[in-house]
Order: sequence, then structure tokens, then C-alpha cells
Amino acid sequence: MKCPFCTHDESKVTDSRTSIENNSIRRRRECLKCGKRFTTFEAVDICLQVRKRDGSYQNFDLNKLIKGVDMAARHTKISHDQVRELATSIAVKLGERQSREIDALDLGEMVMQELIELDPVAYVRFACVYRRFTDVHQIKDILSHTQS
Ligand SMILES: [Zn+2]
Repeated sequence: MKCPFCTHDESKVTDSRTSIENNSIRRRRECLKCGKRFTTFEAVDICLQVRKRDGSYQNFDLNKLIKGVDMAARHTKISHDQVRELATSIAVKLGERQSREIDALDLGEMVMQELIELDPVAYVRFACVYRRFTDVHQIKDILSHTQS
């Protein structure tokens, strides 16, 4: 990423919040040489295959992920903006991975790791869908861990 002012090629990201616009990651950067700030749009390749439980593949769909997390977050303190941000940050991480496919369960784990920070109820709801708990004790286990 060359600085548009002095063409120096080292810069740092100043805003950790990333957003995806038209399949590009928008980042605020600051040039390490002249200190000027600029915005970059980096193409993000989230053309990714999700391997489902039955072995079939599906294209990764950011909007579908947002919908799924939204459902788990319903009636919790998590806002839609937070859901969007969570899903976007996962998409960014996926775009940076070498592998072009991911197991649906691994994707679920990534979401759960973020959700548990935000709200244990949303976490458990999401976990129920992704892990298909066999008995309710597992859920209680998780809740007791998060409420310490
Ligand atoms: Zn510069």
C-alpha cells in the first residue's frame, strides 16, 4: 500500500474497525514516513466454499451469516450493527486465510468465539444450531463458564 502523498510503502492501519463495501475492505491508514492519513480499498476474496455436515459445498454468503447471527442475537443486548461488524470481521479473517474452503463447524466456532464476548444467551442459541447439543447439561456447562 503506497502512500498517495509521498509514495512511501509502509503504513499502519489506524482504525481497527474494518468495513466491507462492494467486496472491498475499507481501511484507514497512516503513512509511517509523512504521517498523512488515507483510505484504502483492498479487494477481499471471500469466494469461499463452506463444507456442510452432509459433505456438500456452498458459497460463503456474508448476508446469510449476518442473518444467522441476527437470529441468535434477537432479544439480547447485541445490536444489528454489532452483528454486522462481527460477521464482517469474520469475513475479513476468512479472506486472509490461505485455504479457499472451510468446514461449516469451524465457521460456527469462529462465530461463537466472537459471540461469547458479547452475550452468553446469543452464544448458546447459536451453539445449539451449530453443534446440535445432545443434552441440556452441555448448555448449562457453557452458561456457568460464561457467568463467572
Ligand atoms: Zn507518506
